[in-house]
Parts: sequence; C-alpha cells; structure tokens
Amino acid sequence: MCYDPLRAYTRGAATSYQTESERGMRITGITTFLVDATPPGGWGGGGRNWLFVRVDTDEGISGIGEASGWPRVIQTAIDDLSVVVVGEDPCRIERLWQKMLLAIMGHGMTGVVGAGAMTGIEIACWDILGKKLGVPVCDLLGGRVRDSVRVYGHAGNAQRAQELVGRGYTALKCGGPHNPVPTVRAVRRAVGDDVDVCVDVHGPPWFTVPDAIRVGQELEEYDILFYEDPVAPENEEALARVAEAVNVPVSAGERHATIYGFRNLIERDIVDVIHPDTGRAGGLLQMKKIAAQAESHFIQMAPHDGSNGPVAEAAAVQLMAAIPNFLILEHLADDVPQRYEVATELKVVDSHIAVPTAPGLGIELNEEACRAHPGGQNVGRVNQQVLDATYVQARSRRRRLMGREEG
Ligand SMILES: [Mg+2]
Repeated sequence: MCYDPLRAYTRGAATSYQTESERGMRITGITTFLVDATPPGGWGGGGRNWLFVRVDTDEGISGIGEASGWPRVIQTAIDDLSVVVVGEDPCRIERLWQKMLLAIMGHGMTGVVGAGAMTGIEIACWDILGKKLGVPVCDLLGGRVRDSVRVYGHAGNAQRAQELVGRGYTALKCGGPHNPVPTVRAVRRAVGDDVDVCVDVHGPPWFTVPDAIRVGQELEEYDILFYEDPVAPENEEALARVAEAVNVPVSAGERHATIYGFRNLIERDIVDVIHPDTGRAGGLLQMKKIAAQAESHFIQMAPHDGSNGPVAEAAAVQLMAAIPNFLILEHLADDVPQRYEVATELKVVDSHIAVPTAPGLGIELNEEACRAHPGGQNVGRVNQQVLDATYVQARSRRRRLMGREEG
C-alpha cells in the first residue's frame, strides 16, 4: 500500500493523541462571496473582484476571511479545498494549513492562487479562534507592539496628494510604469518634505534593468520611502542588480507567496522592504513567519493592499499590530462605495487605523451588501497602443520613461 501523506494527517488526528470528545470544534461548511470592486474607469483596463470567505462551525461560531490572487479562480479553488477542510478543527490552524498544502501540492509549486485559497480559509480560522477565546487576533499573534497601524494613501497627481494630506495622510504612494519621475517630483513639491512618498512602478516585463536603475537614480533626490517593483518580480537576479546600483530603499513582494517564495528575497538581502499581500501570501501565520525571516535581516514589512477589500485589510491590521518590523500599510481610500458597505469600516484617522479590540478580526461582513455587488470577469484588458508603445517602440520612449520630459 502506498504512503498517502494526506491520509496520514487525517488518520493521525483521529487516533494518535486526541479522543473524540477532545477534538473540539469542527468546520461544517465554507461559503464564498465574489464581490465586484471595479472602480469607475476600470482596474487595469478590466474588472476587479474581492473574494470574501465565511467558515461555519458546529459550535455556531463563524469566521470571515478574504482571498486575493485572482479571486474568481480562487473561488473554485476554495470549493475544491472544502472537501479536506470540512470536518477539521479550525483552531488547529498550522495543522489545517499543512493539510491544505498537501492537498494541492500535485498542482505544482504554491503560487499566489493556491496560497490565496489557503489564505481565505486560514484568516477565517483566526477570526473563529479569536471569537472562541474572546480576544482580538493580534493577541494570538504575539500581542500588540502598537495600538494603531500607519497607512498610506494613493495619489496619482499633485492635486490628489494635497487633498489626502489635507485629510490627515502623512504618507502617499505615486509613480506608475509610465513616466514616474515627473509624477514623483510633482507630488514631492506639492506636499513638502514632511510627508513620506512611496514609489511603485509595478514591475512591467518591458522595464529593463538599465531602465530601473536610471529611474531609481533619478528618484534619489526625492527622499522616498521605498522604490517598489522596479523590475518584474519573476527575475530576482535583475532586482538584485537594480538594488545594488541605486541609493533608495528597494522593495518587492506583492506577487510572492509563502515563506518559500520570500526566502530568496530575504536571505540574499535583495530588498529593504517586503510587500506580502495579506489576501494571497498564504495566511496570517505564513505572514508572521515571513515577517520573522525579514526581521532577522533588518528588512521591514509594508503589506500590499491595493487589490484587497476590507476583510484582508482588517487581517493585516491585526498582524501588523503584532510584528516589530512593520513599516506601513497600503490603503485605498474612496476606490468604490461598496468598500464601506460590505464590512465594518475601519476608519483612517491621522493616517492611522486603530487596532480593533473586539474578538477575532474585529469586523463583520454584510452578506446582503456582498450579494448586491456580484463579481465578474477579472483580467486586465491590454490596450494595443500601450502594448505597441512599450514593447515595439520601447527604445524611442526611454526619455519619457526616465522622466526627462514632463507629461
Ligand atoms: Mg505594488
């Protein structure tokens, strides 16, 4: 008879060290809510979805989670995974995560889709555990290092930057893959020296190492908080070459998942800041481990939240309250009205979100509001002119890319 690791896990749970009465709570079902979150004008030329997860138990306690990483695909992945999750104890989170990992390993190395599916379920389990014990999730992850979590807003131009600063934001992100330097220059001039400016060029595959180095060197005079995804994350050697050549903090990680995915970035000290996405990095326990890997290298964590909804954000707030090397959390203000309808709002005051003290994640999902915004198609639509300009005519566009021309 062949050894079946998944079966071994299950068998071990039933017979080795727990009696039936000691088994505790059981998961009875998983429900997903695919919610449209497309801002006016689209998202990357297409739509955007949030995928919320509710895990029910036989003790009447339910937990909520969120999964990013291609939400409509992950909805199906979670449905597949439910056959190995239902019947398990949601409070044995590490064991449950390992069981899910074994269940999907035949589909290849775990990227953001597999990790995203596990993440949605895992976060809901933390919510359940916190509610069962009557404590916020941060108390289960080491306790509070801080009582509020600093966030930055998105400012695509100087006017928006001034508006957000007027509302109390002390940190902003700008940039983009096209012509980032003039945008950064305009934002820095608009907000002065006391506001932190983060720069994200989104690592498009047509951005070469010389491009990224040139832009990074141009950015040095603007005293930025980090220079994110200067090249596509698929090539970490290229990222290392950029980081060696520029005198600004380099960062990456929103498209990585699990401790295995982050290992090289951290162990080789390629980046100064990492951006795991709370909805697809593998779950809060994986993020906590990634944070510890980074802590030992004096690397800071600034979770990606740009495509996430309010549940993943609440989960990030709980974890970031409990890790020492937290830098700042991304926050999308005013993107879609349903952000403030589908779940309890965590208000931003003076560029900070107060860590909720209620049991679990500290927020509730409004399922009726979720159903009112059904999700749909979810890939970007590539503009042919942009494709031609970036790939076919790339060389002639270098001056604008470097920010030597305004506009
Ligand atoms: Mg980014």
